Amino acid sequence: MNKIVFATNNQHKLDELRAIAGGKIEVVSLADIGCQDDIPEDADTLDGNALAKAEWVCSRYGIPCFADDTGLEVDALDGAPGVHSARYAGGAGHDSAANTALLLKNLRDVEMPRRTARFRTVIALVYPDGGKHLFEGKVEGFILTAPQGDGGFGYDPVFAPVEWGGRRSFAEARADEKNAISHRGRATRALVDFLCGTDGANTVQTNNSIE
Ligand code: IMP
Repeated sequence: MNKIVFATNNQHKLDELRAIAGGKIEVVSLADIGCQDDIPEDADTLDGNALAKAEWVCSRYGIPCFADDTGLEVDALDGAPGVHSARYAGGAGHDSAANTALLLKNLRDVEMPRRTARFRTVIALVYPDGGKHLFEGKVEGFILTAPQGDGGFGYDPVFAPVEWGGRRSFAEARADEKNAISHRGRATRALVDFLCGTDGANTVQTNNSIE
């Protein structure tokens, strides 16, 4: 079985990937290959960040690597917070309560049904021979006017997917319900289908080989 590095130490992401891959791929983390690098993540697109992370690890460690980047794109805010989702409210980032509060504040004058948004995940896969592939997953939804639910993380309490009628938030769902339709679940299944050479039955988004 070929070894591949997932450029993350996020246990939740590793578990999700391994569950979808079902033992068909040996996926190791950054910690597993002894990588403690502070990998730059300062591109201005999701594709750019995912590619930069995967290329960083692949070129230094000589092992095939994939990396992901996710953003919440709100139409009434011209796509913000987008690539800046983790640090929307400033500071060191990943302050979910502050990010969500700022989002609700910036949308205070926007009423349903104009509160449309999507989560988008890009996964970049890079091989030592220079081969590169991009996979995308997205889920369309609405930004609620107040948080709902205690589950999930990040913007989950204010994001209600269209597929659930636009009233029930990701934070009100079980993890398996969310993974079945989520941006990251879809991008991950597209990657796994590609790596395992399956027919793409679960592939929601196509993958693109890039030069
Ligand atoms: P990352 O690229 O996976 O680190 O995601 C960047 C930021 O997007 C996170 O800090 C979260 O604020 C937000 N985010 C990513 N995925 C989700 C999700 O599934 N639910 C809610 N927020 C998310």
